[in-house]
Amino acid sequence: MSVIIELYQQLIIDHGRRPRNVGELAEANYIKDGYNPLCGDQLRVYVKAYDGVIEAVQFTGQGCAISTASASLMTQCLVGKTVEEADAIFKAFHVCATEGADPSQYQEILGKLVVLTGVSEFPARVKCATLAWHTLQAALHDNQDCVSTE
Ligand code: ZN
Repeated sequence: MSVIIELYQQLIIDHGRRPRNVGELAEANYIKDGYNPLCGDQLRVYVKAYDGVIEAVQFTGQGCAISTASASLMTQCLVGKTVEEADAIFKAFHVCATEGADPSQYQEILGKLVVLTGVSEFPARVKCATLAWHTLQAALHDNQDCVSTE
């Protein structure tokens, strides 16, 4: 196993066990529930954003290690980003995680999220990794609760 893959797995395990930014965000102005029926992952994503800039993101819920790690890493990478930047990160992550696009092309935009793009090789886990992001998109862009369907 390569050192890189081992490091990636360490990061996923670390965030899966000790997720960051967990808890209700009292001052959130966007809140959305997400559910992945395939695995049973349930998340609630809280976003505080003003003038198109994300100031804080937190989440609550129960899920597998992959969904928890993905939500944790997502909350870390979004603070200070504009909604447009968050959309661009989502698109890059999505195309790598679901379609197997080469993540090295998106290294700059993805940062640490690269560790989760390996799920593209495990179709059953893709929804786990993308749930937090679909829920974020739903929170920022529409009013329907998110049931991950891809
Ligand atoms: Zn899962």
